[in-house]
Amino acid sequence: MAKNVIVTGGAKGIGRAVAVAFAKKGCNIVLNYRSTVPDELIKEIEGCGVECLAVQCDVSDFKQAELLVKASVEKFGTVDVLVNNAGITRDKLLLGMKEEDFDAVIATNLKGTFNMIKHTSKVMLKQKSGSIVNMSSVVGVAGNVGQANYAASKAGVIGLTKATAKELASRGITCNAIAPGFIKTSMTDVLSDSVKEGILANVPLKRLGEPEEVAELAVFLANAPYITGQVVNIDGGMIM
Ligand code: NDP
Repeated sequence: MAKNVIVTGGAKGIGRAVAVAFAKKGCNIVLNYRSTVPDELIKEIEGCGVECLAVQCDVSDFKQAELLVKASVEKFGTVDVLVNNAGITRDKLLLGMKEEDFDAVIATNLKGTFNMIKHTSKVMLKQKSGSIVNMSSVVGVAGNVGQANYAASKAGVIGLTKATAKELASRGITCNAIAPGFIKTSMTDVLSDSVKEGILANVPLKRLGEPEEVAELAVFLANAPYITGQVVNIDGGMIM
């Protein structure tokens, strides 16, 4: 089992579940957050008998991402797992989508993932070990109306995952992507009931996913040394 884990965007939603799942497996957690992190989450993680370092950082900022990785190494010595979870949406139909809506989503979802991989891979290359798990989306695989920016960012994450997997494989470092469907978090809470009904019509398992289900998959991929460069869908059967 990996020892020291960085989770970006770990204060809520899927990131929070990922951080808690790794802590329950005995891993120390570097909990990255952008705005705030609840004290009770840090206590919950520490209650698993591991250490938690909470670091504020906007992953879209190259320098801040570098400082996040530096702080992680200073505290724990190694980075065994990086989970690139931080992500945003700015949904609009193409005609109404502003340049800043496109740039903001690419900056966090794609460039943020690159920033974290860039700085962490130096540490992992020295260690000759490590696992990277990137949060993509079914929307990055299949596209979606009103999400041109988000779909482009998440498709980009898939390309980045595969290139990284190929570059780092010779040093024993794996890199995989998770493509969740619709998961119960604040990102999907904002959807209207009619939109949710429309989504569920295309989900064979007829329910939204739980953050904890995605977290279990992240733990599995981070501890699967012969799986790399893969995109694993967790979507109730939306894409087969
Ligand atoms: P939430 O909105 O619940 O949580 C996202 C987290 O990312 C927040 O803690 C947020 O912090 C943080 N974050 C956003 N931007 C940055 C940044 N620039 N730097 C650091 N942290 C940041 O989303 P989910 O938990 O639903 O989503 C998690 C990931 O899973 C995302 O990448 C998302 O795209 C992906 N995903 C989610 C799906 C779903 O149905 N929920 C489906 C497919 C993929 P703050 O609140 O402070 O801004």
